[in-house]
Amino acid sequence: MATTREVGVGDFVLMDKIDLDNFMQNLEIRFKNGLIYTYIGEVCVSVNPYRSMNIYDQSYVSKYKGRELFENPPHIFAIADASHKVMKQQGRDTCIVISGESGSGKTEASKIIMKYIAAVTNQEGKHEIERVKNVLIQSNAILEAFGNAKTNRNDNSSRFGKYMDIHFDFKGDPIGGHISNYLLEKSRVTTQQPGERNFHCFYQLLIGANDDLLKRLNISRSPDKYFYIKQGNAARVESINDKTLFRDMTMSLNTLQFSKEDQDTLWKVVAAILHLGNVEFDIVEDKLELKQSKHVDDVASLLQVKKKDLEVALCERVIAARGDIMRKEHTESEASFGRDAFSKAIYERLFSWIVKRINSAISVDSQNFQKIYKSSLIGVLDIYGFEIFDNNSFEQFCINYCNEKLQQLFIELVLKQEQEEYNREGIEWTNIEYFNNQIICDLVEAPHKGVMAIMDDASKMTAEKITDELLLEAMDKQLKGHKHFTSRQTKTTEKNLRHKIDFRITHYAGDVTYCIIGFLDKNKDTLFQDFKRLLYNSNDKNLKEMWPEGAQHITQITKRPPTAGTLFKTSMQELVKTLISKEPHYVRCIKPNEVKSASAFDYERVKHQVNYLGLLENVRVRRAGFAHRQRYDKFLKRYKMISHYTWPNYRRGSDKDGVQMLMKETGFDSDVKYGKTKLFIRSPRTLFALENSRNEL
Ligand code: ATP
Ligand code: MG
Repeated sequence: MATTREVGVGDFVLMDKIDLDNFMQNLEIRFKNGLIYTYIGEVCVSVNPYRSMNIYDQSYVSKYKGRELFENPPHIFAIADASHKVMKQQGRDTCIVISGESGSGKTEASKIIMKYIAAVTNQEGKHEIERVKNVLIQSNAILEAFGNAKTNRNDNSSRFGKYMDIHFDFKGDPIGGHISNYLLEKSRVTTQQPGERNFHCFYQLLIGANDDLLKRLNISRSPDKYFYIKQGNAARVESINDKTLFRDMTMSLNTLQFSKEDQDTLWKVVAAILHLGNVEFDIVEDKLELKQSKHVDDVASLLQVKKKDLEVALCERVIAARGDIMRKEHTESEASFGRDAFSKAIYERLFSWIVKRINSAISVDSQNFQKIYKSSLIGVLDIYGFEIFDNNSFEQFCINYCNEKLQQLFIELVLKQEQEEYNREGIEWTNIEYFNNQIICDLVEAPHKGVMAIMDDASKMTAEKITDELLLEAMDKQLKGHKHFTSRQTKTTEKNLRHKIDFRITHYAGDVTYCIIGFLDKNKDTLFQDFKRLLYNSNDKNLKEMWPEGAQHITQITKRPPTAGTLFKTSMQELVKTLISKEPHYVRCIKPNEVKSASAFDYERVKHQVNYLGLLENVRVRRAGFAHRQRYDKFLKRYKMISHYTWPNYRRGSDKDGVQMLMKETGFDSDVKYGKTKLFIRSPRTLFALENSRNEL
């Protein structure tokens, strides 16, 4: 049998000595032995193997089904099973929070969990439940096509956050679900970094669609012809087969009951965006003119709007000033800004519409189930991980704020759970020090004085009065002296003026420098009213449905829509509320290297992740209390043979009495505490010793 030295320990809590070196050593040994999962108590740490592993088939499903965590080697199936078991047996809602940085394996983990749940449910083979499972699984192909993209970190990076509730009936079979989506990185629709792609669907359409469809959309197969998808110069990716993916996704669209018209809308919008990206503007004799009007024709016909209306919306805007309505012609840069905002907005709305459609196909209400007298749910959260790029903008600011919130939740819940169990069992508990990142959450979200509030105040000012640089000055003034905020050295801006344009936040996961340029625009997220009205008047009923606010007359519009920052903050606060009401299970994903290698273990990179995920603190918290706990009946069943009080016959008292006698006799009594229903063992050595005594018999 392999020794601990050779394959490490399956639970970090069982390490001889808790420090970073030992933690890293254990993780590395296990990774090199192909053991990608390790526990910290009930938290599952997962290292991306970057190769296909033979550990998810039916034999593994059977091995983990209905078992306790400690009965089998660590596996993500055990976490899924634990979550399902609690939900089914106790009728409690549970959630599985999957976190980790880009490329660490969150989305794969969430798919593995879904497949496990599908594999262990519906033993009676009910048709409707099979349909629901199928729909839940197939929704991934669609969401990934429209919400994932190749980035420099991950060929299939999720560029949106996803939280999915799966509803179960009283038997524990899935009967429906609901998906919430968070902040799609829509700036990708119009710009990509070198080496990156736009969302997969654009390339899938070009490569995978048949000639007939492309002809109808007036689209050529060559990605180089379209500005919006060629900037990264990475249209072809070795690991991605756009053709097959297009086929799979079309199949999924059919399964999810997207009608022919729905699919038509979908591809028309995608194609319209491609054409829009090639529309350019020019100033001729002081007047703004459209170049490439052929593309404008295509956009108008695809979006089913009047060409004249589209031209007007691209070149000028209507403004209402004290009841008067005026038209104002764009400058060239306003027109380009408007065009890009338009493209991003229709893509974002399309994405939300797709999610809405998926939800209506899986909503519990729409199923033919008889009245369910009891149903519970498991929520699965797969949301973008902490991001530090060379150039960090508003999107990274939001994403990193989201990770602060989740870290806060992790600290609260992991500690709270531990404390609650000790209280429940009547065990004394000593607090353990940990870094509480509430201070950073406040820095971002506090009303009136947080970064979001300062941004919103600035966004209310007229464009002539405020610039990104002035926003940074306001932040500087308000946040001066804050431990986690600094504005950075002066830099030279394009106009050769010396201005500060960077600020830095010391996040729990590290320092991130954000460039303020673009923050105001992205926060305001302005889309000229003219575009909204244009789309509301489209003859495509789906498009019209996506833009209800276009029905308003210009003079009726009084309220400013909430800013992107505020919307995101509110959705994060709601998400945290949802998660906190459920029993949480955690999967913490780690990326072993930057080169997608199945063997390289980049020590420094991994150490950084272990640090910021707070994994060592997690082990300490878990260990400061008790490394191991077990119900008295289960404990007796396993160890009764090591004491003659309990072996061969034990009939004298309760299970708790028996365990107390056994522990006294074997000399382990001083290392344990007796709770109401469970035995708590402080040191892992005791557990080893118990195991040894058992093996030696
Ligand atoms: P992002 O935040 O960018 O969305 P992510 O954490 O969701 O990243 P994934 O897309 O799940 O990362 O994983 C990246 C890649 O790593 C996958 O496409 C796959 O190639 C590989 N991978 C991850 N987990 C596994 C696994 N359990 N088995 C095999 N390969 C895996
Ligand atoms: Mg992902």
